[in-house]
Amino acid sequence: MFYSLTNRLRTFMAGRYGFDMLGSLLLVLYLILNYLVRFILNTLLRRGLLTEVWWVTLLRFLPMVVLGWALWRVLSKNIPARCAENGVFMEGWSRLKMFFTRRKDAVVRWKSGAEERKTHRFFACPNCGQQVRVPKGKGKIAIKCPRCHQEFVKKT
Ligand SMILES: [Zn+2]
Repeated sequence: MFYSLTNRLRTFMAGRYGFDMLGSLLLVLYLILNYLVRFILNTLLRRGLLTEVWWVTLLRFLPMVVLGWALWRVLSKNIPARCAENGVFMEGWSRLKMFFTRRKDAVVRWKSGAEERKTHRFFACPNCGQQVRVPKGKGKIAIKCPRCHQEFVKKT
């Protein structure tokens, strides 16, 4: 019985696309939306604010649309088109991930820079423009440029 069921499912799924990253994400999205919509409608109902207006109907319909899209992709026989869709999705996903990692890096760099500015002062060498880092609170000192060996006096 179980065997024939899985067998029939296999025959049914033959030549169909099945699951991919986008499909899994759509299913998760469906579960979240379904829960959210129920929560919102229940809250409105309890407060007696629920009137059957167009956006309530739309709200009820929205999770079904997402689920429908997910199932339609799973059962689709146009495998190259579904592959291409998933590729576009994965590319967008990795770009999004890259965007956030870059921002995190920038924050880390900015923080360490702020930390350095508390304990050090930065001067540009008058001869070659090289940035020189000097500890703060040393009074007037002669600084030697590490690149061109020009000496200049600065208050730190
Ligand atoms: Zn220099």
